[in-house]
Amino acid sequence: MAQKYVYFFGDGKAEGTATMKNLLGGKGANLAEMTNIGIPVPAGFTISTEVCTHYYEKGKKYPHGLKAEIEENLKKTEAVMGAVFGDKDNPLLVSVRSGARVSMPGMMDTVLNLGLNDVTVQGLIKQSKNERFGYDSYRRFIQMYSNVVMGMSGEILEEILEEKKQEKGVEKDTDLTADDLKDLVVRFKEKVKEETGKAFPEEPEEQLWGGISAVFDSWDVPRAVTYRKLNNIADHWGTAVNICSMVYGNMGDDCATGVAFTRDPSTGERFFFGEFLVNAQGEDVVAGIRTPQPINEAGSKHSDLPTMEKVMPRPYKELVNVYEKLEKHYRDMQDIEFTVQKGKLWMLQTRNGKRTAAAAVKIAVDMVNEGMISQEEAIMRVEPSQLDQLLHPMLDPDASKNVLTSALPASPGAAYGEVVFSADDAEAAAKLGLKVILVRQETSPEDIHGMHAAQGILTATGGMTSHAAVVARGMGRCCVAGAGEIRIDYKMEQFIVGRTVVKKGDIITLDGSTGEVMLDEVPTIDPELSGDFEILMGWVDKVRRLRVRTNADTPADAKQARDFGAEGIGLCRTEHMFFEADRIMAVREMILSDTVEDRKKFLDRIEPMQKADFKGIFREMKGLPVTIRLLDPPLHEFLPQTKRDLQEIAVDMGVSVDDLKHKTESLKEMNPMLGHRGCRLGVTFPEIYEMQVKAIIEAACELVKEEGFSIVPEIMIPLVGHVKELAYIRKKVVQIANEVINDNGCKLDYLIGTMIELPRAALTADEIAKEAQFFSFGTNDLTQTTLGLSRDDSGHFLPYYVEKGIYSNDPFVALDQTGVGQLVQMGIEKGKSVRADIKLGICGEHGGEPSSVEFCHNSGLDYVSCSPYRVPIARLAAAQAVLKEKD
Ligand code: PEP
Ligand code: MG
Repeated sequence: MAQKYVYFFGDGKAEGTATMKNLLGGKGANLAEMTNIGIPVPAGFTISTEVCTHYYEKGKKYPHGLKAEIEENLKKTEAVMGAVFGDKDNPLLVSVRSGARVSMPGMMDTVLNLGLNDVTVQGLIKQSKNERFGYDSYRRFIQMYSNVVMGMSGEILEEILEEKKQEKGVEKDTDLTADDLKDLVVRFKEKVKEETGKAFPEEPEEQLWGGISAVFDSWDVPRAVTYRKLNNIADHWGTAVNICSMVYGNMGDDCATGVAFTRDPSTGERFFFGEFLVNAQGEDVVAGIRTPQPINEAGSKHSDLPTMEKVMPRPYKELVNVYEKLEKHYRDMQDIEFTVQKGKLWMLQTRNGKRTAAAAVKIAVDMVNEGMISQEEAIMRVEPSQLDQLLHPMLDPDASKNVLTSALPASPGAAYGEVVFSADDAEAAAKLGLKVILVRQETSPEDIHGMHAAQGILTATGGMTSHAAVVARGMGRCCVAGAGEIRIDYKMEQFIVGRTVVKKGDIITLDGSTGEVMLDEVPTIDPELSGDFEILMGWVDKVRRLRVRTNADTPADAKQARDFGAEGIGLCRTEHMFFEADRIMAVREMILSDTVEDRKKFLDRIEPMQKADFKGIFREMKGLPVTIRLLDPPLHEFLPQTKRDLQEIAVDMGVSVDDLKHKTESLKEMNPMLGHRGCRLGVTFPEIYEMQVKAIIEAACELVKEEGFSIVPEIMIPLVGHVKELAYIRKKVVQIANEVINDNGCKLDYLIGTMIELPRAALTADEIAKEAQFFSFGTNDLTQTTLGLSRDDSGHFLPYYVEKGIYSNDPFVALDQTGVGQLVQMGIEKGKSVRADIKLGICGEHGGEPSSVEFCHNSGLDYVSCSPYRVPIARLAAAQAVLKEKD
């Protein structure tokens, strides 16, 4: 049988189903599903994603047989809709829309009203009995087609439209008459010919193929490529093309178009939430050009405009029935698009709605309580990386604020930053480490890189479902939309609100939860997690196998992490304690000392402070496991930076500044990360580790004796490459630790382990395991040394590698599973082969990144350790890993 490329839907029957997303794209699969469950969907057909793959593989050629299939399906569509494509009396018009496996809102192209020409427009007028509508559809089609298919800048025809409005002395498109629009059609066509050198195609079939190719081509436009990268969508998936009969929301005042969410996508609250526009086409709502009206009374808090519930009660009621049916059927919150044509409701799309993290958690928990989904499904419904949004600071409600204006609370969270007016400026400033707020009249998919780079987004027009709102919510950026009181002047790089002029570089604060825009930076406070979050995390903890620890160096961080559910400390980097103001001087003097005696003298000064640090951390962790790593970084990191520092130290040490300078120079290294650091310091300057071990064990002994704690300190030796390095240091650690325990007359167990962060350590993990009771994979250094990529310097070029697809992700963010991952797995196997009960964890940054956490689960690690704010993310990712494994 010949391969099938096209799938029909219409008249209550469809060839596809919701499960066929890979083949039909999300939109196509759901149009088919809606048709099958008896929801009114205009008839049409979907060209599969396989055609897209073929198109790109074969140099933009279509597979044999596609043409015949399209013709056959067009006939079926005509039969259901009772209209004929290209007919002069009763023409069928279609929309041509993209639709990938996962939705990429606004990233790819769409053409509406396709099939219109000088002849068919008369048929459309005859059928609608509305000349103005006919010519309005025609001029819209020419605008869209010339832009999307013929590659002409949209602004050119937009300018002609503006000219016409000025000529006629009107403000709105809707004030133009049928004759005005008819004249525009002529002018548009002339301009298209002039600009492109080609006549606007009159032949509907040619138009159709032009539309199909444009959608396939739009799979590869830069903004779609960027979006795929940011959202981990594979390039080879391709898009489907949906050809759907047109229904009209712009035929008159008994027509409308709208979008809605079955629950509030910002808070997750269970109320039907949406916006619509009377006498408009779908693109008008999403583009944010006109300010949409709320769909119902419950959602009209921020608007005085009349609701659909009031002005179109019958279609509204029907819409309520449809949304309830859809939510029950899909068992998830839906994002729907609809059109009302002459009082009749048509559904154009449904998909699982994008939502904020808070909404995701609330909806998941509510749906379990409503008996709609299981606890396990609820766990899978929340994107781990999204939790970040819940854990970040909000505006301090008691702070004084200079509120400039208030608009729609489009995406929650609070952010401040310097004002910029273009996406490129936002990106450039973010690269310099600046926090910025992107201010735009409205955003478009071209702005996506700037929105990603910005802390927050402020737009002057657009509603809660505008591009800015939807994209910002998905990205977790805060967004205030539709701030009609601000007047933006891009040329002057400023906006004016009331009497205030805000210039590029000025600081403003946005509150995406209330819609307030404030001048200057407003202080923030830590968020309080909702009861739903705790409930969900309770389910998560019942399911996961991996333990989750934290990387924390201070009691405050340790507390924060415990509040987020950390079950221990997997990495305490002691070097951070060396930088404290009260001891950096002694540390510097210790490093610059020429003799062991001198070094010991300064170490003696530091030891009580280290002991106090460790006590604080042990106390905070209340007996949970704590891994303390002995000093790791190259010593030169601690050297005096300024002349004043040098002078002060010279005086204190009784040496000359010149001598000190000389000594400082001698400690500098060409390649410090491969130099005198980690356990190498323990070999060459054993007194440093001696001091640290003493401080750790004394701190633990005192807490055990004086406060009845039960503690098993885990002492970790960094950057081991050869078992003999570890054996050498371990012997000394054991000796000191036992001495301290004896001297204190206490009973204390302790563990000695190592980091596996050099390839040689992974390759010889069986030898190393003889000397180590635990391994912690330091995947930051392991990535650096395995890939030969500097973790400090590769930021300049690594993004290009990711952009070109050489690495699918930044390997310092998501673990390179095939390369570095192999070494991790080898380390695990070899370690276990020698010591069956060896404790295994990871403490590189990957320990808080969801895909890497899943890898750690699958590889059999006991725990991951990550920064405090990522603890909930790791917990959730660990539970999802179990559920995915079950699947
Ligand atoms: C590592 O290398 O992965 C690690 C955790 O240590 P650090 O980042 O301190 O080098
Ligand atoms: Mg390291």
